[in-house]
Amino acid sequence: MRKKFIAGNWKMYTTAATAKALAEGVAKGVADNAVTVAVCPPFPWLALVADVLRGSAVAVGGQNCHYANEGAYTGDVSPQMLLDAGCKYVLVGHSERRHGINEPDLFLNRKVKAATSAGLNVIFCVGELLAEREAKQTEDVLDYQLSAGLAGLSKDAVAKLTIAYEPVWAIGTGKVAKPEEAQEAHAFIRKCFAAQFGEAAANALLIQYGGSVKPDNARELLKLPDVDGALVGGAALKAESFLGIVHAAV
Ligand code: PEP
Repeated sequence: MRKKFIAGNWKMYTTAATAKALAEGVAKGVADNAVTVAVCPPFPWLALVADVLRGSAVAVGGQNCHYANEGAYTGDVSPQMLLDAGCKYVLVGHSERRHGINEPDLFLNRKVKAATSAGLNVIFCVGELLAEREAKQTEDVLDYQLSAGLAGLSKDAVAKLTIAYEPVWAIGTGKVAKPEEAQEAHAFIRKCFAAQFGEAAANALLIQYGGSVKPDNARELLKLPDVDGALVGGAALKAESFLGIVHAAV
């Protein structure tokens, strides 16, 4: 039985004060470990949020990292820096980086390798554009993103992976994948993962759905057999709505 995993992506929102209050609100509403819960604040608030969440059932993640552990990479943050700031997770390949600033698959692959070997758990995001879905290319896109982004991973690295299926047309748009679309994509991802890393790894893999998840649509998505959680953007910015999704997962 796979434990549900709900992660909140705060993107480039919050101030120091609202991030602290949001973390406090989330921690208050997550009483136990029935569901795995993490929040991914902007870099400047990581240590602050990690301080608030220390000893709680809520973990912290970064929204991105570089593949190098240090170096002349202005504006970047290394996996080790995320660990030092109190992170357990990092998002890699979010569509706002893949498509927003054209991060290529090879670059993402290097990040996944670096982050997992530093000891972080990676939430690796995949998903098709609307035009790709309409052209019936969803499976080709997912297959390519998984095989390129996860190429050459060790068994240890594979054990630190969660996949987030985030159809790009559903992120921040209010459009949610229909349950049958989500289930079909998740089952396909699990099949690709089995071909890449074996049945046992695929059966243990957590696959989150992301794309306009809200408290009122979460239950229907989270009960699908291959949906093991959610990556939540907009609805993660209010403790009440994020907790509504966490509670829908119980
Ligand atoms: C996201 O940021 O990964 C996301 C899914 O955003 P939203 O929930 O707002 O669609």
